[in-house]
Amino acid sequence: MKKMEQLYEGKAKKVFATDDPNYCIVDYKDDATAFNGEKKGTIVGKGVVNNRMTNFLMKLLEKQGVPTHFVEELSDREALVKKVTIVPLEVIVRNIAAGSLSKRLGIEEGVKLSRPVIEYSYKNDALGDPMVNEYHIFAMNYATPEELSLIADYALKVNAFLSSYLLEHGIELVDFKLEFGKTADGTIVLADEISPDTCRLWDSTTHKKLDKDRFRRDLGGVEDAYNEVFRRLLGE
Ligand code: UDP
Repeated sequence: MKKMEQLYEGKAKKVFATDDPNYCIVDYKDDATAFNGEKKGTIVGKGVVNNRMTNFLMKLLEKQGVPTHFVEELSDREALVKKVTIVPLEVIVRNIAAGSLSKRLGIEEGVKLSRPVIEYSYKNDALGDPMVNEYHIFAMNYATPEELSLIADYALKVNAFLSSYLLEHGIELVDFKLEFGKTADGTIVLADEISPDTCRLWDSTTHKKLDKDRFRRDLGGVEDAYNEVFRRLLGE
């Protein structure tokens, strides 16, 4: 499929049209942002890690019965994906208290939650992605009850599979963010990415942070952490 005009440029990826209206090409950048774009930087090689890790995990998730937008890896930084309309929600799943949950509820980082927690944010940079609940989502038509129920089922399935898969590779899945899209025929599929940009990943023995918190909190060793996750999962 031919790469055509750029449709969109986000903080970490560019999206291009192809000669088939049902498909797009995603191109991953090394640009990093945090705190709603306030902090900017570069994580050298991040685009390659995030593209290849996302593609690898999406293939595994398809086998687990979670439909995704992924079609084919085209290069180190590019993937062919189904064209979708993004459901305007960030779907966050948490296993261990960290980040905004720790702050909001006064729970120390690292405390294991007795069961997974799902949270939703309305995807809107100008508003700082405010947290919303089911009532907001249905009243504002961000998703229908049927769509949201499917999204929550998929999110928990992704969590169950990824948690145990990552643990086999010495990584604790603390929390993560998913996005879902709707294909032309209305099918809900997992979209966006699953990477150290969008997951909190801790070494399961040392609890060392192996994710974007190293960039957010100026902990150093950002590239090494991304490469370490890549190496453990893809063995390269
Ligand atoms: N997350 C993300 N994009 C966002 C907000 C959160 O990928 O715009 C991920 C984040 O990396 C973490 C999880 O979602 O793995 C939960 O994030 P949290 O709500 O704690 O927000 P943060 O502390 O990152 O601001």
